[in-house]
Amino acid sequence: MSWGFERGKSYRRVDIHKDFGGNGRSGIVTTHKGVVILFGREGVSSYGYANRLRPDGIYEFFGEGQVGPMTMDKGNVAIRDHVHNGNALLAFRILKNGLVQYIGEMFYEQHRTIKAKDKLGDRRDAFVFELRSADAVEAAIDDDDEVYAADPIDVLRQRALAAGQASPSKDKAPRSVIERSRDVRNYILARAKGHCECCGESAPFARPNGTPYLEAHHTHRLSDGGPDLISHVIALHPVCHRRVHHAADGKDFNEALKARMREIEPNL
Ligand SMILES: [Zn+2]
Ligand SMILES: [Zn+2]
Repeated sequence: MSWGFERGKSYRRVDIHKDFGGNGRSGIVTTHKGVVILFGREGVSSYGYANRLRPDGIYEFFGEGQVGPMTMDKGNVAIRDHVHNGNALLAFRILKNGLVQYIGEMFYEQHRTIKAKDKLGDRRDAFVFELRSADAVEAAIDDDDEVYAADPIDVLRQRALAAGQASPSKDKAPRSVIERSRDVRNYILARAKGHCECCGESAPFARPNGTPYLEAHHTHRLSDGGPDLISHVIALHPVCHRRVHHAADGKDFNEALKARMREIEPNL
């Protein structure tokens, strides 16, 4: 579940392609390992728009398509629908000499359409994706006291299922990544009914609001924050959760959890 990248560290792009496959020139690389990888240049841009990390923590990533209006397909749709497709989004900054620097795991928040020059100098519609860092989402959810919504479990489930979609039905306003993350977490904890979904142990203590304390673990992700498919998230008591992240057999244990999830959510 870890892809072996450390934030701020530099890697040779060819080595990443050796591991994950994909085109060495493309800015948006869809791999078969449940990961979409973004390679972006910052600061300099001969045409179009430069990627940047905004002061509010949003990473702006310019879409794909060099000539004519951008279209929501290929790499662009891979970004928009990464949660729905069960893919993690990893962002890298392009440095010199074939090196890239790992920025971190991201979540699609929304995109906007702007006018920007294409490769031929013509003004066209272009997408700017607004991505939120997984760390920011995780921190917001950790500080969140609104654990367990009081709604019935099937309502929580519907909301959590919708959270996996970047673009919900047209009559509803899009929900932020943090709201969608909360929807997933609330359902997972309600589904667990106070017991670890791995070993069956009771939650070790209650939260200040009286609800049982369990942790939501993402079996296909590097981080435990963010919206996800509910078939990828399991409620664990703290020992099982520590085991998957810190034990010598953590990787195998995570594989066992994935198998367990197929029993918990057999219809997904
Ligand atoms: Zn357990
Ligand atoms: Zn975890």
